[in-house]
Amino acid sequence: MDRQATAETTYQVWYCKRCDKACKIQPPTIEPGCRCENPVPGLRPTLVTQMHQPKLRPMQALTEEEGRLRALARKGRRVQVTYEAEISEAWISPGRDGVKRIQFIVTTADGRRHVVDPALPGLHVEAAPDGEQG
Ligand SMILES: [Zn+2]
Repeated sequence: MDRQATAETTYQVWYCKRCDKACKIQPPTIEPGCRCENPVPGLRPTLVTQMHQPKLRPMQALTEEEGRLRALARKGRRVQVTYEAEISEAWISPGRDGVKRIQFIVTTADGRRHVVDPALPGLHVEAAPDGEQG
């Protein structure tokens, strides 16, 4: 067993002479078992060493996808962010520079609509793998 994984606590325990249960514990971190109205503690305490297993955090099984995303999460890393959606509307309108460009409203699988402005820096729109036939 890994030594660092366990901790020990030593208590002084006075056992009650009436019920043989602990009636006084120093340090008082555990509950005495004695319920006598007038406990009769023994003269000498007994040293009790308790081993503590550190509480294991419930293993949250990291999904493969979450693990993959966490591995990516590093400042400065270049990533490509894509989502798949269906073109719901498209129109051509002049931008601030007066040049006419196409814009889309797309609908993702959850039914939400998103405005997609391909003129945004870094944004790139292409056909989904199954979307070539259109
Ligand atoms: Zn007792």
